Amino acid sequence: MLPTRSLKTKIKAMISKQLTEIYQLLFDRFGPQHWWPGETQFEIITGAILTQNTNWANVEKAIDNLKSAGLLTPEKLYHFDVLQLAELIRPAGYYHLKAKRLKNLIDWLFRNYNGRLTNAEDLDTDRLRAELLAIKGVGPETADSILLYAFNRNVFVVDTYTARIAFRHKLIEPGADYEQLRELFQANLPQDTKLFNEYHALLVRVGKEFCKPKARCTGCPLEKLPRTLDIEYF
Ligand code: SF4
Repeated sequence: MLPTRSLKTKIKAMISKQLTEIYQLLFDRFGPQHWWPGETQFEIITGAILTQNTNWANVEKAIDNLKSAGLLTPEKLYHFDVLQLAELIRPAGYYHLKAKRLKNLIDWLFRNYNGRLTNAEDLDTDRLRAELLAIKGVGPETADSILLYAFNRNVFVVDTYTARIAFRHKLIEPGADYEQLRELFQANLPQDTKLFNEYHALLVRVGKEFCKPKARCTGCPLEKLPRTLDIEYF
């Protein structure tokens, strides 16, 4: 039997309450996380590509190299050789692949928006998301990071930490995919970019410090909440 409208409303209210409680507990413990580090919109986008499969300290080294070379603009990188670009971003790992991905994104920008990010600002979020996802090497997490942190759109970013915490706290069925997890947060929280920004950063923080593949629940800000550790998570 399908849930009635009033049951759906009740479930939604319950999930919203749980999500708000999690946010509050994390914020009370960790405070503001000041994401996303980056002085310009393009630096944030570059960071979103470079951070794939590596830690932020390595991304910073790669970004520093680009800054020192005076290359951290779409115009400069558009005309820059991809092999030389790869060498500069070597500290971020997978540097040949990431150089190509960065070039793909810049090509999209020049092909459609005259190389100017401001020209892409007019697109509605669904269209912009679809265009980003169509760029080779830009997956949902990267696209959503760009939308939220570079374009200030109300899009929730999901990553491994988000999934692990949501599954362990029984917010969603184990095995839910990226879009289902995104919908869980996006549809049940107030539509507030600042909240989405802070929430994602806080989930990363608790994931790194406590909610590792082997959970360290003692002392975790969420330890008093119902959870299950029955299933092995990545
Ligand atoms: S470490 Fe334990 S209490 Fe903390 S988020 Fe993970 S499952 Fe929850």
